[in-house]
Amino acid sequence: MKSSAKNISEGRVNLNKAGCSTAEAPAANPIVIYAAKCTGCNRCVNICQVDLFLPNDVKGGPPLVMYPGECWYCGCCVVECPEEGAIELRHPLMNRVYWVEKESLRNY
Ligand code: SF4
Ligand code: SF4
Repeated sequence: MKSSAKNISEGRVNLNKAGCSTAEAPAANPIVIYAAKCTGCNRCVNICQVDLFLPNDVKGGPPLVMYPGECWYCGCCVVECPEEGAIELRHPLMNRVYWVEKESLRNY
């Protein structure tokens, strides 16, 4: 068994280079949890309607992002999190739309 899969199966945190607890690279993952800020309260785990997360076996450890492809981008996990900056929702590029006002060319 590969070591990252072993870590997940044993409930250990899989930290990538950005210090995030993710099962995949951030580019492919809409949810990023910053282990340094996360207190492991699991409020995001409980609020997510598609059960995208798994609680960490280690008490106080950040949840594991197990099924990033199931995310609805509803933002409930971010709103529910009591720790500012502990969890980030990254919308797909095609959803990051800017509206440009015709007269002034201002972006919104
Ligand atoms: S944005 Fe919504 S669907 Fe996606 S992980 Fe958070 S709570 Fe779950
Ligand atoms: S709600 Fe925030 S602090 Fe609590 S486990 Fe989720 S990311 Fe960590």
